[in-house]
Amino acid sequence: MSQNIVPVLLPIPADRPYSYGVPEGMKLVAGDIVAVPLGPRKVIAAMWDGETDDVDPAKLREIEGRFDCPPLDETMRRFVDWVANYCLAPPGMVLKMVLRAPGALMPLEPMEGIVYSGREPERMTKARQAVLELARDGLAWTRSGLAHAAGVSAGVVNGLLDQSVLRRIEIPAPPVVAPPDPDHAVTALSEGQAAGAEALRKAVETDGFSATLLEGVTGSGKTEVYFEAVAAALKKGRQVLILLPEIALTAAFLERFEQRFGSKPAEWHSDVSPKKREQVWRQVTTGEVRVVAGARSALFLPFQELGLIVIDEEHDPAYKQEDRVFYHARDMAVVRASLTGVPAVLVSATPSIESRVNAEAGKYAHIKLAERFAAAELPEIKVIDMRRSGPARNGPTGGGFISLVLIEAMKHTLEKGEQSLLFLNRRGYAPLTLCRVCGHRFQCPDCSAWLVEHRFRRQLVCHHCGHSEPVPEACPECGALDHLVACGPGVERLAEEVLHHFPEARTIVLSSDLMGGVSRLRLELEAIAKGEVDIVIGTQLVAKGHNFPSMTCVGVIDADLGLANGDPRAAERTFQLLAQVTGRAGRTGAASTGYLQSYQPEHPVIAALASGDSESFYAREIEARRQAALPPFGRLASVIISAATRQESEKHAREMRRAASIKELAHGEISVLGPAEAPMALIRGRHRFRLLVHASRRADLQGWLRQWLNAGPKPRGSVRVQIDIDPQSFL
Ligand code: ADP
Ligand code: ZN
Repeated sequence: MSQNIVPVLLPIPADRPYSYGVPEGMKLVAGDIVAVPLGPRKVIAAMWDGETDDVDPAKLREIEGRFDCPPLDETMRRFVDWVANYCLAPPGMVLKMVLRAPGALMPLEPMEGIVYSGREPERMTKARQAVLELARDGLAWTRSGLAHAAGVSAGVVNGLLDQSVLRRIEIPAPPVVAPPDPDHAVTALSEGQAAGAEALRKAVETDGFSATLLEGVTGSGKTEVYFEAVAAALKKGRQVLILLPEIALTAAFLERFEQRFGSKPAEWHSDVSPKKREQVWRQVTTGEVRVVAGARSALFLPFQELGLIVIDEEHDPAYKQEDRVFYHARDMAVVRASLTGVPAVLVSATPSIESRVNAEAGKYAHIKLAERFAAAELPEIKVIDMRRSGPARNGPTGGGFISLVLIEAMKHTLEKGEQSLLFLNRRGYAPLTLCRVCGHRFQCPDCSAWLVEHRFRRQLVCHHCGHSEPVPEACPECGALDHLVACGPGVERLAEEVLHHFPEARTIVLSSDLMGGVSRLRLELEAIAKGEVDIVIGTQLVAKGHNFPSMTCVGVIDADLGLANGDPRAAERTFQLLAQVTGRAGRTGAASTGYLQSYQPEHPVIAALASGDSESFYAREIEARRQAALPPFGRLASVIISAATRQESEKHAREMRRAASIKELAHGEISVLGPAEAPMALIRGRHRFRLLVHASRRADLQGWLRQWLNAGPKPRGSVRVQIDIDPQSFL
């Protein structure tokens, strides 16, 4: 008897689907979600398409069951394959990101409802009377709700059920969010906004893929503009995915959405409870959820009627996942839009070089909003040359980190009843702690990183692995007591300095160390927006997207910080981050100023920020990338080798390098640099080496990498090899 054999993709790191038998009577289509045996385990997998391998019929195992849920459609399956192929990841590990909410596959249990059947009880009592008076309203009650409302025991309700005076019905589980109404509160747009909205609306109404870069200075109303594209997609009967880099912090975004569309979008990110996520997952497949606002992992939700993808703050590094499957959600979002045949809209005040180049080359449509909405002006940017006007000498510990100019500006701001923001991308009290007597530096035992003092918690903490130890009273090296000194500023230390200068001001420090997690952070951000805080000291958490109406003074404590690391995106990243930070100022019309404290004011990035001439910054940066054939004019892939010992790691890296000299594979279009010990040579006890592969745009980078990995040495023992296509981090 010949049995029907089908390919099944399992959420495991195998390079292809496995073959399974279909039991008699089971009807399956590609994309169906199934349960299959794998060794002693049972796993949730998806029936795939393509050829099946020949398997020994004696070893063939059977699919155990099919879940009652719509199959992953053709587009979704091709998307999984595409991402796997592009990122050199096992397709099953990409599928795993799709099947992130296994509980969602179980049909939701309908709720029990109690209604009046129309019959009279055999014998009427006061308690029964009370119940029936309520139940006669014809609505469905819960058992306990009815008993409670009538002020009787549950036994009375049960008795009436037994006599069929009351009847049970099933109420379907409620939707996680009400459907949005595209006409709920249409925004009156300015002329420039309206033109942009019209172009996006056209893109949505036209069938087929398109990509548009929506670029506009901070506060120009980009959100209002792309909301019109969302409305158009909803009117077309399509679902919408809005990607946001830091969704957990964007309560304000959800509210704005609700104002415009009458209900909130479904949220999808790691801070949503598993139960809620299951509901969202399921209702995305069934189409009950029309709009999802989510972090990068929302990209793998199985939409069936997707009509638009918006990628807000498209330049944000948080879109890159560097864990398990390394992928860039912005780039993969454009791929998903293209495979689905729908528009992608990339939104930013400071677009990535990649997106700017695509827009300039005509690959993306380009919408520009040059002005802030209404009367709001961009902040005036002033550079404080720290070589001449350094920090005040009268800080709490002698020397401070805030220059006199900035302190004066903060004083004026405070007097006017407006808000200041001090930005420093360094958590904790001080980035380095050492012993004044012997010079001992506190280092993480498992990482190449200094331990950062967190004075509020009295701990020394590693920001890479989370290792922490109490701050000791004596130096562990020389035993000297009370001789530990903090070197350099962190936000906590800055807070001390602010307290010294402005003891009366309401000050808050915001970083990811804030106790109370995301919900606390949301509250604090709201408080700032309402003007309940005078001075905000924060890391990049406060830099992005927030609307603080009375913030008029922004001070960047160390504008040079991001320029120091030697990565190819250092200039771009610094430009983006500082433009975003200073963009927090002056969003509602009042004159505002952004101060950049810098030891190299003539640096092109600082100069571009000061002059507000972003066009020439982009022109120069794009030209530099072109000259060096760096992305997007050439392509990069990182190969990260790690092992339990430095020796093993280095040996494997060198062997890989040797295997890469198979020149004929590359046709001169590909070169390999390294191996070099990674700047973060040790992370969580693993020793790391890096190779960097540079390819021209013509080369088949992935094809070459695959051949190389096949031909090269296989990782053994503790050795791991991780490929990172289009790397963003070089640490
Ligand atoms: P961006 O995302 O470009 O930084 P936002 O979309 O957040 O800008 O808009 C900035 C502020 O201006 C918000 O408070 C927004 O509500 C307001 N705004 C923008 N456009 C309009 C409009 N057409 N009507 C009313 N308010 C607007
Ligand atoms: Zn560590």
